[in-house]
Amino acid sequence: MLVESSTFYGAVAKGAAAATLLASSATESTVDDCTIIYDLEDEPAAQLTDRWPVLPAAVRISSTDGEQLFAAAHDRTAWTDQSAVDSDCEPTTYLCDEGGMGIRDEQRLATLLDNAGGDAWLVPAIALQQAPKEREPEHQDSGIPTKERLECHQCGRTTDHRFSAHESVPDETWTGHAIWECQVCGMPRYGPTPE
Ligand SMILES: [Zn+2]
Repeated sequence: MLVESSTFYGAVAKGAAAATLLASSATESTVDDCTIIYDLEDEPAAQLTDRWPVLPAAVRISSTDGEQLFAAAHDRTAWTDQSAVDSDCEPTTYLCDEGGMGIRDEQRLATLLDNAGGDAWLVPAIALQQAPKEREPEHQDSGIPTKERLECHQCGRTTDHRFSAHESVPDETWTGHAIWECQVCGMPRYGPTPE
């Protein structure tokens, strides 16, 4: 999240608001959930942090860490004026404005940076992006809800869970358990049977 603020906490607050807007945005509909690093209760997983030079809760772009992080995000962004964009699965938006809108236009980015001056901050966040085919569960037609807010013991908080399977049934008298998967960390757990 690229935000304008004179303080660290101001940047974090604006970043959190932008993350919420991004997750609920219709135009950025591939993002289902977005959590800023500052709000994570545990350190982000190594496979996420390894991909970035630094992943602080918030950083001024004019600082050394900020410059490195900004350069990495800039390099990975699929700018609209570039023709070869792999739109299949790889997320291509790495920078978002305060309104949760993706920044893919270099001119717009330059304007935002100009306006913010030395008060431009980056507030890293983790976005959960569903692959297109996963957005259409098998039982879609029957109207079965396959998404629930459940407590995840791995994450230590309530997260979105997706119904993944019924546990195999050892005999006919036993109904088995519905297995739900945390959409943040992937940890499976028992949950309510989707009806
Ligand atoms: Zn979890």
